[in-house]
Amino acid sequence: MQHPPARVVTTAIAEGLVSSTIARSVPLAAQVDLTMRCNERCLHCYRVVESRPELTADEIERVLGELARAGTLYLTFSGGEIFLRSDLFRLIERARRLRFDVRLKTNALLVDDAAAARVRALGVRQVDVSLYGAAAPTHDAITQVRGSFARTLDGVRSLRAAGVKVKLAYPLMSVNVAELAAVRRLATELGAAVGVDPMITARNDGHTAPVALRLSGGLLQRFLAETPPPPSAAPAADAPEPGHGPTIDDVPCSAAHNACYVSAYGDVMPCVAMPVACGNVREESFDAIWQRSTKMLEVRAIRVSGLRGCSDCDAARFCTRCPGQALIEDGDLHGPSQAACEHAVASARAAGSTATPPPLSISARPLTLTH
Ligand code: SF4
Ligand code: SF4
Repeated sequence: MQHPPARVVTTAIAEGLVSSTIARSVPLAAQVDLTMRCNERCLHCYRVVESRPELTADEIERVLGELARAGTLYLTFSGGEIFLRSDLFRLIERARRLRFDVRLKTNALLVDDAAAARVRALGVRQVDVSLYGAAAPTHDAITQVRGSFARTLDGVRSLRAAGVKVKLAYPLMSVNVAELAAVRRLATELGAAVGVDPMITARNDGHTAPVALRLSGGLLQRFLAETPPPPSAAPAADAPEPGHGPTIDDVPCSAAHNACYVSAYGDVMPCVAMPVACGNVREESFDAIWQRSTKMLEVRAIRVSGLRGCSDCDAARFCTRCPGQALIEDGDLHGPSQAACEHAVASARAAGSTATPPPLSISARPLTLTH
């Protein structure tokens, strides 16, 4: 079956698209979680499984239509493990008919040659496959599933053989940092890209167990020295001119501006990393939540210049603060994130700078967590 081309834009106009969608509050990118069920039990997972029923395929198809009408181009299906849904290909097909640029996130345990061929035939742009080590002992100890390393690599090979673009997603932790170089070599052998994320976050219900696995001190500094984060446009930006919408420099990040998240239970949030439930698609339309939810509008109103403690921070240019993380771990969406401060200090030192953030003063929580 022929599927229409995604409404992909060239790099040349991508920047303008980002700016204009932020200024007009168009949800350019959406992540939709298809399930919270998973066939791995990763030590660092932020997932929270609830007893509420997950969205049905019919409900997800309706939401996809609403996202398309709202202006979404970039759609990510994630979870949980998406290949546990027997209706996954129906949903991808629907998404492609709506001309979304589709990306999948999976552990690839259930990806065989036939599944990979279907992914390819449906024109999925990229599959992100989670990997936690360069060898079975490390990877399987983190997933807590014996044999998962071999099965994940088999899945990656099937996808690559089918011609699907693959990116290995490697969350960097104290327990797997030693295998980073070997993972990069493995990715090259597999014909895959690799994305390394050193920021392990607390669970979305605020439970901090995963944080113990986070890199800190000298290990973090060494990693950041080798892979400096992109310069942040965050704090100390100018206020927007009257009569104009916000620009990318004015807002802390894309959440609630041109990006959003729909959970497997139907909650609409500004971002998967910001568990602020703004409404549920079982009770009202996506558009009503995106345009009128009090919580969504509150997140959208945050400006870099108004962040407590961050707006005059010396280390801001080394900072990759995530407001969701500031909320979950420090209790304040409008304040500093202790984890980001630590990263900023390590980045500054790695770059030979003595810049430091101001002393942390965490204030009361202005928005409550979902759970
Ligand atoms: S380093 Fe800390 S205080 Fe400075 S901008 Fe980042 S989160 Fe805010
Ligand atoms: S900075 Fe955090 S809340 Fe903002 S888009 Fe990124 S992950 Fe989401």
